[in-house]
Amino acid sequence: MALIVRKYGGSSVASLDHIRRVAWALASAKEEGDRFVVVVSAMGGETDRLLKMSEEITPQPSSREQDALLATGEQACSALLAITLESLGHRAQSYTGMQLPMITDGIHSKARIIDLKTDVLTRALDEGIIPIVAGFQGVSENGSITTLGRGGSDTTAVALAAALKADCCEIHTDVDGVYTADPSICPRARHIVRISYPEMLELASLGAKVMHVRSIELAQKYQVCLIVKSSFHNDRQTWIVNEEEIMENSIIKGVTLEKNVSKISLIRIPDRPGIAYQIMQPLAEAAINVDMIIQNVSIDGYTDLTFTIPTTDLGKASALVNEVAKKIGALEVRADNNIVKVSAVGIGIKTNPGVAAKMFKSLSAEQINIEMISTSEYRISCVIEEKYGELGVRAVHKAFGLDREDSTETIQ
Ligand code: ADP
Ligand code: ASP
Ligand code: MG
Repeated sequence: MALIVRKYGGSSVASLDHIRRVAWALASAKEEGDRFVVVVSAMGGETDRLLKMSEEITPQPSSREQDALLATGEQACSALLAITLESLGHRAQSYTGMQLPMITDGIHSKARIIDLKTDVLTRALDEGIIPIVAGFQGVSENGSITTLGRGGSDTTAVALAAALKADCCEIHTDVDGVYTADPSICPRARHIVRISYPEMLELASLGAKVMHVRSIELAQKYQVCLIVKSSFHNDRQTWIVNEEEIMENSIIKGVTLEKNVSKISLIRIPDRPGIAYQIMQPLAEAAINVDMIIQNVSIDGYTDLTFTIPTTDLGKASALVNEVAKKIGALEVRADNNIVKVSAVGIGIKTNPGVAAKMFKSLSAEQINIEMISTSEYRISCVIEEKYGELGVRAVHKAFGLDREDSTETIQ
């Protein structure tokens, strides 16, 4: 009998009514003889509510306590779903990350999984109990509760599917699959039937929050069969597969908008060896991901350096950079969170030289100024002013011929 990991995201368990609908779907799957492990997110909006509460107490709560607090969202939801299933006459049991346990490193708010035990789950399955795992959380080797980063329940699900050698991992959400752009900002986005792991990885890391980045890395590494589908409608879905399984490749697979991005500029820093290292090292030590980096040409032995980081790390990063700026004698440090990143993603980029020009043209046609640019094998990204983000996505999406003609058109 097939074993499936079924993950339900926040919007699918947003109220007791939603939880009841999920329970009905699980009960009927169980009656049909399916074996599955369930992973849940917190009820929609709960993680934000908890975050806001702690930030009302202090703007920089300790990361250990913040994680302990946020993990309760998933914990409550898993118990509520178990209670609902029991009320329908099914045996179900909830598990926190600590109860499995899922061991992670100690980097709070973006912990990575080190080890995952599944004995309690296989025992429950053997006894006919539906196991319901609280997503997004683990426990560090020193016993602190950790979280895997926003959207991290997808990663819990894929990690469990890999550890259990499940036949498939289904991500049940509020869209019926992956689209060529976020359908909530680009109504003409097309449904994608099959997408490769590397393309999905790029889309996710550039802002397509339909999948958590780390979940795609794990799925590719452990060759987990991964499907994105709607929680309550069964018409279509997206398969995330190996590159070789895609028959036809479009140059651009999708366009993304990344909102969690800010930039820091150091003005007039000495242009000599070791300066970039001095700036970046404290950020690396604080586990802050620096993304795009631009250094201007040197004039009179001085230059400017600008880089982007997640807005969620802006406070911490600014404090660190200001300290270094004093040491190296920078004229000024400027922080700007009024920006977003629009990216075009596709494996055809490396072999099609005109792609960048087409993207720049589509943005300029809308009078959108490009502040920073970066390219790689699979993507081209432009940093632009925040207020033009959605317009920028639609313009680039259209320029690459991704707009659909009717409401059902899909990309194979
Ligand atoms: P869940 O709570 O189920 O984890 P998320 O909100 O994390 O759901 O992810 C689903 C949302 O991702 C969709 O509602 C959609 O707005 C957004 N999204 C962003 N980019 C895409 C894309 N390319 N395809 C589909 N959905 C996308
Ligand atoms: N509840 C967490 C969040 O809102 C994790 C998740 O939903 O996957 O980010
Ligand atoms: Mg999600």
